[in-house]
Amino acid sequence: MSEERPAMPEDQVDARVARMLSRIGEAAAAGAPIAPPLVLASTYLQPGDPSGPYQYGRWSNPTWDSLEAALGALEDAACVVFPSGMAAIAAVFHATLRQGDRILLPADGYYTTRAFAERYLGPFGVTTDLVATRALAETNLDGFRIVFAETPSNPGLDLCDLRLVAARARAAGALLVVDNTTATALGQQPLDLGADITVSADTKAIAGHSDVLFGHVAARDPALTERVRDWRKLSGAIPGPFEAWLVHRSLASFELRFERICENAQALAERLAAHPAVTQIRYPGLATHPDHALARRQMRRFGGLVAVTLRSEAAARSFLSAARMVNDATSFGGYHTSAERRARWGDPVDPGFLRLSVGCEPLEPLWGDIRRALDTV
Ligand SMILES: *Cc1c(COP(=O)(O)O)cnc(C)c1O
Repeated sequence: MSEERPAMPEDQVDARVARMLSRIGEAAAAGAPIAPPLVLASTYLQPGDPSGPYQYGRWSNPTWDSLEAALGALEDAACVVFPSGMAAIAAVFHATLRQGDRILLPADGYYTTRAFAERYLGPFGVTTDLVATRALAETNLDGFRIVFAETPSNPGLDLCDLRLVAARARAAGALLVVDNTTATALGQQPLDLGADITVSADTKAIAGHSDVLFGHVAARDPALTERVRDWRKLSGAIPGPFEAWLVHRSLASFELRFERICENAQALAERLAAHPAVTQIRYPGLATHPDHALARRQMRRFGGLVAVTLRSEAAARSFLSAARMVNDATSFGGYHTSAERRARWGDPVDPGFLRLSVGCEPLEPLWGDIRRALDTV
């Protein structure tokens, strides 16, 4: 792992993580709880004329605020929390687009983002174009209001050069929005590379326990986050305080989990690449990834997703049923290892293609289980 680790200065993100953890323990005065309180309130005492930060539950909530402060420390940006990743993505579209706008989406990214744009933005006069993630940096960006990138893409783990795309989007007058779910803010920081907005499905590694859906939007231009916040307030796409509290609690262990996940993923990717049952493998941390050099430049960690292809659908199915430590389940980023055949959802991938989401288990028992299951296919 150590020699594959990108040669980027780590102190900046380390300092952000340290700030995030200190925000979790931020206590105002002697006697205040160290852990952020869970505030369940639809309304707040409001004598006389409206004043103060908390008036009505759809507008603001102290549990959202403390989570937004912690996520804000991690992103070094203002954050707005949402009840799911898709709610965060939809909020960005609604807050920035107008009739007649064009947007550019990844053809090979998270399917629901495309489906949302086609079914619900199209009828309002927003045109969607698609481009493969690996072709984005060479695409003409003139005329787009939003350029949307997902790198590494889900599920193919293709990359695009965010610094280059950000510069070209800026020159074309477009906003660059990056779905940073697969890499997470610990894997890469797109705002540092020039992106205007990041969105994250915190359902995945940030929450990491497979018990809550959540999302957030981060941006350094206050006008953008204010508009997203206003959209949340008016549309009512608000997270439950308990879900926000759960995510905040999970943030405390996020870096520890993610470090283990990435170390395990690198080791497993290397071992899987050498196993005869594996016909193809893609992981940004492998020298065989077509954009490994870019990954080393732009990513701080290579993440927990490994794309593994076995020779057939039957081989993939029998691997999944033979492996005891690999849950056959959708989604990713949990502390437990899981995998699924993406063709079962209609992704344009090989029938033997598995998206492996590596967990925090000790490496050798996990590899032992995976190798034993591979040996049977
Ligand atoms: C899961 C996911 C989403 C959507 O998140 P939800 O919390 O399920 O709404 C968006 N983008 C990517 C890349 C994802 O993996």
